[in-house]
Amino acid sequence: MSRVQSTPIFGTTKTRFRSLPRVPSLPVFVPTRSKAQVPLLFREAYVDHGFRELHRPWWSYLLSVLQLHNESMNVWTHLVALVLMLKHLHTFNQHLDFLTDPYSWPLLAGFVCGLLLYSFSSMAHCFHSKSELVHYLAFMVDYAGIGLYGLGSTIIHFYYCTELELHLFTQNFFVPVGCALAFLVFFCCSYAKVSYSRPYPFVRKVWQMVPVLGVYFHLSIPLVHRFILCLTSSSACPPSIQHHAQQMVWFILSGIFYASDLPQRFHPGRFDHFFHSHQLFHICIMMSTSKQMDAVLLDYQMRLAAILAQPEPSLFSAFGPVAVVLAAQIISFCFFRSIVKRKLAKRD
Ligand SMILES: [Zn+2]
Repeated sequence: MSRVQSTPIFGTTKTRFRSLPRVPSLPVFVPTRSKAQVPLLFREAYVDHGFRELHRPWWSYLLSVLQLHNESMNVWTHLVALVLMLKHLHTFNQHLDFLTDPYSWPLLAGFVCGLLLYSFSSMAHCFHSKSELVHYLAFMVDYAGIGLYGLGSTIIHFYYCTELELHLFTQNFFVPVGCALAFLVFFCCSYAKVSYSRPYPFVRKVWQMVPVLGVYFHLSIPLVHRFILCLTSSSACPPSIQHHAQQMVWFILSGIFYASDLPQRFHPGRFDHFFHSHQLFHICIMMSTSKQMDAVLLDYQMRLAAILAQPEPSLFSAFGPVAVVLAAQIISFCFFRSIVKRKLAKRD
């Protein structure tokens, strides 16, 4: 949808048609601003136009998802991913009884984390332009979702994609280590956000990417173990393996786009609205989680006997880690919020 112009419609002929009723402008579609018209905090490297005005009412930012600005596609890509995640949940719901089957509860916990990831991300990109304080807080919520998704994937892979021997060997520490790494994702990303100012140095991305890679390596251990078994065994590889491999390829691609600022690095201003690296990063993450869910569904169907041979999950073992990490994130969020408030007050 095109941006609504602030100049009067029929501008040059206005005097001749003075008797015509005025066409009301849509108050929600405020014209976007250029880079020079927004505070430094909101400027993105290699993005010149499409910034939303600050200090509008909340509903104005909500309705701005229907307007073309430089965050529109970031919001929409993860709204689409949210719908895709719900579609996968619906598919699983046709095979499983989430209410009474304890073996389905870790999967439900993983879905809760996935839905939070995409909800938090969409909200952050939708509302962060409201003010400098909201900008900081919104992206901290986004980081909380990324950490939770890392934990949800850890839980799902541990219960449904791990060979029985490895599952039994790691059952006392695999998920707790995932909890610690998931919390570190939130803490390090928030620390980097609060500590560095634009234009951000590359070390800020290091602060963000190292913990994300840490939790990703950890949640991939059961998959790498199965890849090795697949390569060294004479029997055929299970069909889910290729979906797991595709999930990893999409994740690697997402990291490349996130870290490289491609393609806008080579044509500043040309990718302000479409095909910006952050949008491509969002799309790759969406594809990665979609392939992950395809793989887990196949694993659940084809490895059911092995899954049922594992100790029965409880509500606490499935949802407890999510609750613990969420609580730790909320406490840290309050801590970071007070730091941001002090930082903004000192500057003013
Ligand atoms: Zn994003």
